[in-house]
Amino acid sequence: MRAAASRRRGLVGLACLVCLLAAPCFLLGNPMTQAAKAKATSVRYEMFGTQKAEEQHSQQSNALQTALAPMLLAVLLFGASSAQAWTHKESKNWSAEFPMCKQTSQSPIDLTSDTTSGSGSTLAQYVKYDPIPARQIKNNGHVMQVDGSFGAFKLPDGDYQVKQFHFHFPAEHTVDGKLSAGEMHIVHQKVGSSGTDDLAVIGVILEESKAPSKQSSFLQALFKDLPEEGSASDVGNVDLNVFGDQFKEFYHYVGSLTTPPCAEGVHWYVSKNTANVTPETIKAFHNRFKEDDNRPTQALNGRKVVNSALSVDKEFAA
Ligand SMILES: [Zn+2]
Repeated sequence: MRAAASRRRGLVGLACLVCLLAAPCFLLGNPMTQAAKAKATSVRYEMFGTQKAEEQHSQQSNALQTALAPMLLAVLLFGASSAQAWTHKESKNWSAEFPMCKQTSQSPIDLTSDTTSGSGSTLAQYVKYDPIPARQIKNNGHVMQVDGSFGAFKLPDGDYQVKQFHFHFPAEHTVDGKLSAGEMHIVHQKVGSSGTDDLAVIGVILEESKAPSKQSSFLQALFKDLPEEGSASDVGNVDLNVFGDQFKEFYHYVGSLTTPPCAEGVHWYVSKNTANVTPETIKAFHNRFKEDDNRPTQALNGRKVVNSALSVDKEFAA
């Protein structure tokens, strides 16, 4: 993968695109706080190059407001990538604005390594990914994310296409109570579905290690020139098959998005084989995200976790 060569910031299209494709970070329908609205308004003025207009706002013009109204509405509807209505630091309060965050089948959870009753499947039997050129990594203020149709994950009720993959540092799922350095989420959605419907996520837990590996080289190149909030950097060709060693045994359960709106019914597949990530790569991430971007583990509430099986009980029943 080529290192980033250029950086684009503040693009209107990007703001909308980040939002539309940020599956676990869906901002669609996300009611913005007053502060976020004010920030979004400010962003609009800056984009028009009329910073002073904000100061003169009261004198000037209903005319200006009228002219800006459609654009501002677009930002409010689709969210501005730089306007944060929620933060990871306040994850305990998400349910005040996003009631689904306090439902009883939430993610992430603590996984238990001696989970049994599996069918012996491997993820590699069901995923088919292809390399895609000219990708960008985006900083949407919540996670670092790469969008693209990288291929399909065949589940019992149909094909789920990759929408994007993104990262959390530290990890979100724990194993026997152990929290690792980071976690990658490959987000898929069933063909024909939209919004937060029919999502499946493959999680790869990242273990801090100086030992070189093809996965750590991939991550190092991907994180070489991480963009500022609201921006994107070119990362060239991206091939998820580099994680072939991780597409083997897995934990499976049904949970939720780990970010607001915390919609449930997400099919989770967390690889048992971790991938290495170097201390330098973790540092590069934290140079852009001063705070951790992981949600703490949630109560299992009697849910079943299975070993290397694609479904639990009647998960895919009509
Ligand atoms: Zn995630």
